Amino acid sequence: NVKKGDGDQLPRYVRVNTLKTTVDDVIDYMKREGFSYQGHANGIQDLCRLSDKAFISDLHLPNLLVFSAKTDFHDHFLYKAGHVILQDKASCLPAFLLNPPAGSHVIDACAAPGNKTSHLAALMSNKGKLFAFDHDAKRLSTMSTLLLRAGVTCQQLANQDFLKVDPQSAEYKDVKYILLDPSCSGSGMVCLRDGGSELPEEQAQAEAKEASRLQALSAFQQRCLTHALQFPRVQRVVYSTCSIHTEENEQVVAACLQQNPAFRLVKLFPQWPERGLSPHTQCLRASNTKTLTHGFFVAMFERQAPGSQAMN
Ligand code: SAM
Repeated sequence: NVKKGDGDQLPRYVRVNTLKTTVDDVIDYMKREGFSYQGHANGIQDLCRLSDKAFISDLHLPNLLVFSAKTDFHDHFLYKAGHVILQDKASCLPAFLLNPPAGSHVIDACAAPGNKTSHLAALMSNKGKLFAFDHDAKRLSTMSTLLLRAGVTCQQLANQDFLKVDPQSAEYKDVKYILLDPSCSGSGMVCLRDGGSELPEEQAQAEAKEASRLQALSAFQQRCLTHALQFPRVQRVVYSTCSIHTEENEQVVAACLQQNPAFRLVKLFPQWPERGLSPHTQCLRASNTKTLTHGFFVAMFERQAPGSQAMN
């Protein structure tokens, strides 16, 4: 069981913001600062063998550089100028997998502080429309600053409850891609996990409270996902959480598949080493042990061609 502080041992992932710079320019900049570039990683073990001043290109995701656990770029010029985004590798999966083309209409349903929004905008080359919602005004205002810094221009931010956004509105008639990363327990964030109480009564109380919290979160996540599937022209919906709990992951997916037979799961990223729990192996999981990331879950729903539903 991973305890508090183990997050400090994970490699540091740096996503190059292609709206502002290129991977080659960032590599050159880092080399001039005394870092040594090791080329492309060949295996996951290359990511945890990095010395303090070494860095490497990730083996799964493009535009992602990997540094040792000891580096911190929060005060770095490239971060402050929006040229790089400090984002865990697993959290880069949803936008990368959704991969909306330039010119498309996309919704980021629960968007703040906007790391995945800026990633979507980069994939879209700032072309098209990116509707981003969050019901928390303060988080949305932080997001607005961060998107400005990242050079994002195709966004339309709204301080709105996604569940109240009308799928039939003419504004969203061309939305084909939705990214849904709703509030979750955060149990995958290794720095937030604690070891629990030593006393059996306290432990039992804490477990009961946690179970009811998970049930409430799971119900909310299901409502959000079903809502996302109501948009009339949506083709692909990516669902993600930074939770390790089945209740928030495979169980949400199973319930939504049952309620929405027009959609099926897409088999994601075959070379990714950690899969959703059986039978949902089309989905991805991530963890500090197998993928050297925080705990994470990603599923992708795709609208089936008319008449093909009986085949699944
Ligand atoms: N996708 C974000 C990113 O990568 O930076 C992180 C999103 S965070 C996990 C979940 C967000 O959902 C929070 O900012 C929260 O305020 C927002 N949220 C929760 N319920 C919502 C709702 N009903 N409608 C819109 N936003 C909601």
